Amino acid sequence: MTDTTASTGTARPARVVLLGPPGAGKGTQAALLAEHLGVPAISTGDIFRANVAGGTPLGVEAKRYMDAGEYVPDEVTNRMVVDRLAEGDAARGFLLDGYPRTTAQVRTLDEALASAGTHLDGVLEITADTDVVVERLLNRAAEQGRSDDTEEVVRRRLEVYAEQTAPLAAAYGSRGLLVSVDGVGPVGEVQRRALAALASLLEPGAGASAAGGA
Ligand code: AMP
Repeated sequence: MTDTTASTGTARPARVVLLGPPGAGKGTQAALLAEHLGVPAISTGDIFRANVAGGTPLGVEAKRYMDAGEYVPDEVTNRMVVDRLAEGDAARGFLLDGYPRTTAQVRTLDEALASAGTHLDGVLEITADTDVVVERLLNRAAEQGRSDDTEEVVRRRLEVYAEQTAPLAAAYGSRGLLVSVDGVGPVGEVQRRALAALASLLEPGAGASAAGGA
């Protein structure tokens, strides 16, 4: 166990996607894991929110969808991610949080990486029961006064996730790229599971048994 966490902290590029429903704790884990890997955490939700806050045309367009719990159209999202991945810091790898979320986005990511002569190393799925994530999202909304997280919108976001994004896990699984961990538990405990799972993705054989697949 102790070496599996150390063994993921290599200098070699790591190109990883974090998958999981809203409220599963992806954002928290993304920051911790990206720091561990020495790669940028790229969150499409954060980029959209920054654009909303800055009142950019992209933000104005994205907000309509975000407020309704719907996905921003693929064309808009894909263009934004392709531009972001072309920035220098992503050449050494990345941890994508909240992208891809549709099969069209999976295809765009594959194509962007292939044209850069590289590929995904793996997909880490963080799972959590619907009841748990609804409660977490509603608590977070109450704490942060987030108007985009009414119960109706929260339920719609989970519905959209189930319809459009949950199937991506099976697709990545059939490519041998997927490891799943349970996102329910204390942050440190989930991080331990996530690091073990990452080790098994990046260095097969190093931590597979400790990954605690769901
Ligand atoms: P998140 O913080 O990742 O839950 O994202 C917040 C909102 O941004 C989502 O509910 C969507 O409206 C939008 N969004 C983020 N990432 C994507 C994506 N990959 N595709 C479409 N919409 C997205």
